[in-house]
This record gives sequence, structure tokens and C-alpha cells, in this order.
Amino acid sequence: DEMDVDTIWMDGEFQDWDDAQVHVLTHGLHYGTGIFEGVRCYDTADGPAVFRWDAHLDRFYESAKPYEMDIEHDREELTEATMELIRRQDLESCYIRPIAFYGYNSLGVSPKDCPTRVAIACWPWGAYLGEEALENGVEVMVSSWRKHSSSQIPTNAKTTGLYVNSMLAGEEARRNGYTEAIVLDKEGYVAEGPGENIFMVNDGELYTPALSQSILDGITRQSVIEVARDLGYTVHDDATISRGQLHTADELFFTGTAAEVTPIRQVDNVEIGSGTRGPVTEEIQQRFFDLVEDPGDEYADWFTYV
Ligand code: PMP
Repeated sequence: DEMDVDTIWMDGEFQDWDDAQVHVLTHGLHYGTGIFEGVRCYDTADGPAVFRWDAHLDRFYESAKPYEMDIEHDREELTEATMELIRRQDLESCYIRPIAFYGYNSLGVSPKDCPTRVAIACWPWGAYLGEEALENGVEVMVSSWRKHSSSQIPTNAKTTGLYVNSMLAGEEARRNGYTEAIVLDKEGYVAEGPGENIFMVNDGELYTPALSQSILDGITRQSVIEVARDLGYTVHDDATISRGQLHTADELFFTGTAAEVTPIRQVDNVEIGSGTRGPVTEEIQQRFFDLVEDPGDEYADWFTYV
């Protein structure tokens, strides 16, 4: 198959791709009651290493909490399963997708007596928005869809059902000729991308929306805040950014496990800054790509070697 995956870990066992199946009456399929992670393994100077595995595992278990989902596999088991999947498939760099969801018991909305199913798959994945995007930036549109507010659904939990909003926003943008969307929160302030956090640069300082603003607590966001501060930048990680401020920003960029650090060159056909990757974005992006190639002592504790 095109994903080039032979083995998937599911419910405690390594299974062939073809055998890793669920029933059509799975609770999570009907009601979006799953939680998941997206993680990258980088081919570092000292071999394949998973970036911020501990932080992703923390978020995985935390995402399960509001749904009272009991993941019966501990950190050691999920870690060993993931490393073994990467080793078995001889992957040097890859994307890792752990997922937990309510399986089949009865189809009431209450997941009572539905088993919690857990699976992990890994596959090779390049630049999410394309190599060209990393260098020249993407053209985005402000979506007409708003983000669900954190009073409607726990937006800090990485829940499968939440991604219908991401899909609607992203597809609306692509239908209109853009690469990606920016989604505003209920009040109309900038929240995030469909699968990315967002940063703004003005007068050499960085701004990113507050965690209270219905956004995911992105692990790349956390990492980029730290990297930028290490480079000497002032980072405001509790900003409120209006739609108009997007247009007048010196620079904008997305962060995410899939998108890594992707410059934004236009919003709604308005050029941002010079209309290409800005110098602050470039410096942070370069530092990010350097450190995932060679963490050195400074970022050694962000990596779990396969
Ligand atoms: N926001 C949303 C809605 C996302 O899906 C993602 C991707 N997980 C992010 C932000 C970025 O998070 P991370 O850096 O942890 O991948």
C-alpha cells in the first residue's frame, strides 16, 4: 500500500497492516470519541530519535481524561511498542500516530462498557505543506469557520472529533486556492491553523495566542518558544491577535509536528512583510532544523533514541 507500513501495534500486539482492523460499529467512528498524537522521529547525527516523546505521551494521557478513557497500557509499554515499530520497519525518520478510541459495545452515546482500543502506526512523512513552503512560505486564508470554544469542548485535548472543524477550514482554504487556513476563535481573535499553532513577529519580538484561547498546547509551539528565547528573542506567549494585525505583521509562521516551522507569506492575498520568509522566521526555523539533526547537549533531553 502507499503508506508503506507493514506492522501496526494494536491493543498490546504487533499486527500485520491487513489485520489491524476495527468493526464498523466502533463507538469512536460514530461519535468521534478518540484521542491521538502526532509525533516525529528524526534521523539525528546519533541515529533515529523521537522528538519530545515524553511531552507527547503526557498529552496523550491527558487528552484521555475528559472522556474518562482508561488507557490500559503504561508509558513503558507504549514507548517500547513505538521504538520497536520504528526498528522493525527500519525507519530513519518517520511520523508516529498513537491513537486511543472507544471500541464497540453498544451504540448508545454513553461509551459504557465500550473497550478502549489503542494503536500505534509509523510511516515516512516529509514536509507537511511541501518543501517549497518551508523556504518560501504558504498562502493562507482566514476561514469562515470559527474554532469551537473551550467552553464547548476541551480544546486542549487532541480529540479525533475536533478535526471535522480542521477539515472544514482546511478544505475551504484549498478549494479557494490557498494552501492552509487560519481559524479565528469565537470572539474573532486569531486562534491557530487546522493543525498548527501560529506566531507573529513584530519589531523583533514574537507573539503567539494564549493557551486559554481555545488552542491546542502545541509541543512545537512550546519548543519554538524555548528555542526563540535561547536565541535571545522576547516571546509573548499570551498574546491576543486580531485579524487586522495579521496583515500588518512583520512576519507570520505556523508551528506543528507535521508543519514544523512554516512561514506564512500571504493572508487573504495580502503580502505579509516582504511577502516571503522573514529573517526572524528563518533564524528560528534554521535553529529548529539544525537541532533536530544534531541536538547537542543543549536539547539532548528532547530526544528519545530508538
Ligand atoms: N493545533 C492543532 C489544532 C493541531 O492539530 C496541532 C497538531 N498536533 C497543533 C496545533 C500543533 O501541535 P504540535 O506542535 O504538538 O504538533
